[in-house]
Amino acid sequence: MKTQTLLTRRSPLGASVNIIKQTFSAHRHKPVQRVSFVSGLHGDEFEGPYLCHRLIHALRQIQEAHPEAFQGEVHVYPAANPPALNHGTRLWPFYGSDMNRMMGPHPGAPLPVQLSQELFEDIQSSSDLVVDIHASNLHLKELPQIRIIEEFSEELVPLALQTHADLIWVHPMAGVFESTLGYNLNKSNIPTLVVETGICLRIEPDFVDRLFHGMLQLLHHLGVLTSLPSDMPPAPTPQVVYPRGVAQSNAKHSGLFVSRAKLGQRVGEDEIIGQVLDPVEGAVLEEVTAPGNGILFTLREQPAVHSGALLARVALNQEPKP
Ligand SMILES: [Zn+2]
Repeated sequence: MKTQTLLTRRSPLGASVNIIKQTFSAHRHKPVQRVSFVSGLHGDEFEGPYLCHRLIHALRQIQEAHPEAFQGEVHVYPAANPPALNHGTRLWPFYGSDMNRMMGPHPGAPLPVQLSQELFEDIQSSSDLVVDIHASNLHLKELPQIRIIEEFSEELVPLALQTHADLIWVHPMAGVFESTLGYNLNKSNIPTLVVETGICLRIEPDFVDRLFHGMLQLLHHLGVLTSLPSDMPPAPTPQVVYPRGVAQSNAKHSGLFVSRAKLGQRVGEDEIIGQVLDPVEGAVLEEVTAPGNGILFTLREQPAVHSGALLARVALNQEPKP
């Protein structure tokens, strides 16, 4: 393994801001494929850095014991936004900037923009395929899933099927994706899978376990690794859902949402999954029901809700008829 300080800047009081890249090279010849894992663009999402730890640890062991197993090259960028990760904040401190909204062509030269651009160029020049790992926000917990913008689905779905995620969600394009790492890499013909899992500021070890085995499986599928650890669990088959295959429940009232369901459970249409309560009056404002038959893959964790707030998403067993 080769450790490289990719980018470095002095901060106002002298400490440096460094972005580190770990590289596992192909054994003795040109790599069959170059795969990069990126995490920590958002500094309050720790599932990704933990997944990168698992990968670096395992890949180092494989390289020491069976160097010939590396037929491709792997790069890991475990902490893409170090100042924000140190603070546990989504945004780059002081500037309040979102690194995952500064990729691709972007005007201006503040520090986060410069580093985002340099990081983007490095990932672009050293990868044939990228996995960008995110966790959810504070409000919603997510089953391990790969999110794919519709226009890239033909190429990405077969790759996503290797990742041991519970779900592959093919969704429409939206303006907010235009300056993300995933969109810009896919646009420049570098297939990029975006992982969304768990919740921010927490680690769900079971979810990361699944994805860890999935990422090894992906490397094997691509020919980057010719052997896998002997204790690999059997590969599950992720459910693939398209835009009409996702239904959601929203709060009709403002109040406290108390969930009675478990993430990942199969639910039936109109099955009660929780309540919205008025704690001041001691009243039940509504029984929240599942919006369809399928797997509950998003569930509200932050209990204080305003009317209209997203409470749950279900990956439907069957798309509704038009
Ligand atoms: Zn994120």
